[in-house]
Amino acid sequence: MTTSNQDKTIRIQGKETPIHAEHPVRISCMECIDRELDDYVNNYEAAPDTFKVDEVDTDEAGLEKKCMVCGAEGNIALLHVKGM
Ligand SMILES: [Zn+2]
Repeated sequence: MTTSNQDKTIRIQGKETPIHAEHPVRISCMECIDRELDDYVNNYEAAPDTFKVDEVDTDEAGLEKKCMVCGAEGNIALLHVKGM
């Protein structure tokens, strides 16, 4: 395991939440979510935490509310919260 001193946070439900910086934030639509969940586990060996995209401050995080797989409207944010 590598350790990182960089703490990355994202605002969820108005609260700054620490997330694992080595695991990305992904946005998915309802169609692609099953595949995204599988891919997240396979690629990062971590089970992602999921939130409604509207609960996550995507603007602050520099993310678009669009599915990263198919480009449709994004409904779900996948990310890995520290300590969950
Ligand atoms: Zn999609």
